[in-house]
Amino acid sequence: MRILVTGGAGFIGSHLIDRLMDQGHEVICLDNFYTGHKRNILKWLDHPYFELIRHDITEPIRLEVDQIYHLACPASPTHYQYNPVKTIKTNVMGTMNMLGLAKRVKSRFLLASTSEVYGDPEVHPQTEDYRGNVNPIGIRSCYDEGKRVAETLAFDYHRQNDVDIRVVRIFNTYGTRMLENDGRVVSNFVVQALQSKPLTIYGDGSQTRSFCYVSDLVEGLMRMMNGAYIGPVNLGNPDEYTILELAQAVQQMVNPNIPIKHEPLPQDDPRRRKPDITKARIHLDWQPEVALLGGLKLTIDDFRARMGDVLPTDVIEPAMHS
Ligand code: NAD
Ligand code: UDP
Repeated sequence: MRILVTGGAGFIGSHLIDRLMDQGHEVICLDNFYTGHKRNILKWLDHPYFELIRHDITEPIRLEVDQIYHLACPASPTHYQYNPVKTIKTNVMGTMNMLGLAKRVKSRFLLASTSEVYGDPEVHPQTEDYRGNVNPIGIRSCYDEGKRVAETLAFDYHRQNDVDIRVVRIFNTYGTRMLENDGRVVSNFVVQALQSKPLTIYGDGSQTRSFCYVSDLVEGLMRMMNGAYIGPVNLGNPDEYTILELAQAVQQMVNPNIPIKHEPLPQDDPRRRKPDITKARIHLDWQPEVALLGGLKLTIDDFRARMGDVLPTDVIEPAMHS
């Protein structure tokens, strides 16, 4: 099949491309390199079945493809809040352009939506029928509301134009290839620990998240694309941790002597988040396989290799941490 991956040079998109290329598909990667990098797809650049197009999805494009994985959109609050109007354009105009493409060439279209559509949830764990508690005018709204509109667009193109859609709501995902300056909590803690800097906990650290390793997530995306259920379906790891527990896990794995520093909690930061994945289990026969400590080890090893070997985990001079 010829498969388009928008945002394919990013964190999740590049892992997805690895799997699709390994399966022998023809892959077109569309990316404007806002948070994505050529190095994430470097190994495919000379492959005859791979094509890279630098393109901003807020502009239309004509392509012939069988499937579209629509992932293009910055995912880290730091990056999506840097230019919020652009984030909304990407989610609304960009998604409309990609749905228009799907309609024209009759390709199946998978939208990478987010647990952020639930906002600061009053239902816990979050089920797909929960309609959310989102602030329409806050600093996260460009992303939360943008993705909510993207979902609406997907379902309206489905109802009105018969576009064959799939909608997944992705919960916090982490793993190798995250940017050092990504700004999300796992990469922040790992980078800080490897640099022997204090781990920055926003607020008191009692807020919770549920962390899914990227290989599990990609497996879920592919099952969704190739299954019959249109969604929306939650994809995430239901193991819930406080941010303090996450910081302590990173401390234990990199350096128990690294201090913790508290910083102000950002506006509208959700108090807790945990997916109910009953639908994914039933419709996709999917559940995550990688536990937090195993995934953190892979992530730490990857950052260590990229940042230059700061210090091996088990040989740390006490003087370094005074
Ligand atoms: P990422 O920032 O690493 O990847 C996004 C990619 O989209 C980047 O390569 C970026 O350059 C590209 N992009 C952004 N705007 C674009 C535009 N206008 N035109 C073309 N390309 C553009 O993020 P990620 O973590 O890989 O997330 C991928 C998708 O999954 C996003 O849609 C995100 O909303 C969704 N998601 C991710 C998470 C997570 O925890 N990682 C959680 C929920 C949803
Ligand atoms: N967070 C933190 N320290 C950091 C980065 C994030 O304590 O250095 C917190 C953040 O306030 C939130 C949680 O960790 O409560 C997850 O943040 P992230 O940006 O990774 O994802 P999201 O808030 O979008 O789930």
